[in-house]
Parts: sequence; structure tokens; C-alpha cells
Amino acid sequence: MSGYIDFHTHAFPDQVAPTAIPALEKKGNVKAYLNGTITDLLKSMDQAGIEQSVVCSIATRPEQFQPILDWSQSIRSPRIVPLPSVHPADPDRLDHLQQIQEQGFVGLKLHPYYQDFFLDDPELLEFYEKIQELDLMLMMHTGYDIGYPRIRRANPQRILNLLQMVPGLRLITTHLGGWDEWADVRELLTGLPIYMEISFALDFLDQIRLRDLIESHPPEYILFGTDSPWADQATTLKMLKKLGLPDDLFERIVRENAKALLA
Ligand SMILES: [Zn+2]
Repeated sequence: MSGYIDFHTHAFPDQVAPTAIPALEKKGNVKAYLNGTITDLLKSMDQAGIEQSVVCSIATRPEQFQPILDWSQSIRSPRIVPLPSVHPADPDRLDHLQQIQEQGFVGLKLHPYYQDFFLDDPELLEFYEKIQELDLMLMMHTGYDIGYPRIRRANPQRILNLLQMVPGLRLITTHLGGWDEWADVRELLTGLPIYMEISFALDFLDQIRLRDLIESHPPEYILFGTDSPWADQATTLKMLKKLGLPDDLFERIVRENAKALLA
């Protein structure tokens, strides 16, 4: 096992996957490469030489907190690192953050489109401060979302605003700082201590722009991620290899940075 770590994947409970996958395929006009179960994800990991996957859940309604937490608990293993989710409009959101931490999870995932909020909404200040106080990492969908109208809910300027609101928040931005907002990412975010996970960027940017973005960012803040099942893990890894990054940078991206964060 070569020990790569995929910091961004999704999976669903076995009884939910058969309906969730086609519904999400239709909504996002995307194709799933796996059937959405943990079993299938593990198979894909074996094929790609991926040792660990971070599995992100998204509570699209406040009531989903508990079932997601319970399921996250049931799937966790040395190879599966689940991130539960809290809906920002959940009246018990602060207690629920506490529960996530008490149960030993390393963080949570939020998605401004699926959860209908703006990343830097001042009303969320207390919520974000609690995340930081509990030392949880916050995995945040950033940039546009392929399945939603182009309203800027999670763009680079809002990321900067959020970090101004809560300095030191351990924020992981998906899709290399913000999907399809890469000109602004380059202008506003590169060089700053903000984690960026690379899924859904490799096939949307040419190699020159990709290398420029990655190499102008601090090397310890870039993470390999695929957004599986919405991309194929082995193919994404192959595309990253093809960029021809320096070996030590590549090693940091596919393993070392994630290891440090998950330790
Ligand atoms: Zn995702």
C-alpha cells in the first residue's frame, strides 16, 4: 500500500445509496463512478493505492444531524475518516458541534449551497467560533457548485471575510480554493495559510495554470482530494502525477499534509 490519503470523498448508508446516487447525478448533471457505498469506496481505494479516505457528509436539514452522526460512527475505521455535518440553521447547532468533538471526530463538513447559507454570514460567527474553540477542522465546499445557479455563496472574498471574522479557524477549502473561481483564488488566496483540496480542478484548468496555483501556495496547505464518487480516484491521482510536480511537493499533497492534519 502506497498510503495515499484522499481528503474529499462521499458515501452513503447502504440503504440510501441506490436512491441518493441517481438523484444527485440528475441534480448536478454528473456521473458517479461508484455505487455510493463504503464497500465500493474501499474497492476503489484498493485499486488506486489509497490508504485512507475522508468521507464527508452534508446535513441538508437540521434533523439529519443525528442519523449522520450515528452512521459516521458506524463506518469509522483505520481507512475511513468520517466528517459529520451540522446544519447552520439547526437550533441546537452549538451542542451538536460539541457532540461531534466528544465522539472523537476530527471535524465537520459544511456546504453553503446544499445548506442554503452564505459563507461569511455574520449570524454564523458564534457557530464558527465554537468550531475553532473545539479544535475541529472545517471542511467547506468553496466556489460555485455544479448543481446550483451561479450565486456567489462561497467565493474567495467570502473566504477571506470568514478568516477575518475567526482568525486561526482550521478551514479546508475544496476544489483548489473555490470551484471555477480560480482567477480570484490566485489573486486573493494563494500564499495564505488556507488549506486547499484539489478535487474537480485538475480537469478544468490547463497544466500551466494548475502548476502556477499550486506552486504559489504554501506547500503544507495543499491536499489531495477526488470528490469520489463524482470523480474516479485512480484517474485523479494519475492526473496529479502528470503535472510533474517536484517529488517532495507531490508527497506532501498526497500524504504528508493530510497525515499531519489527521494526527
Ligand atoms: Zn464533495
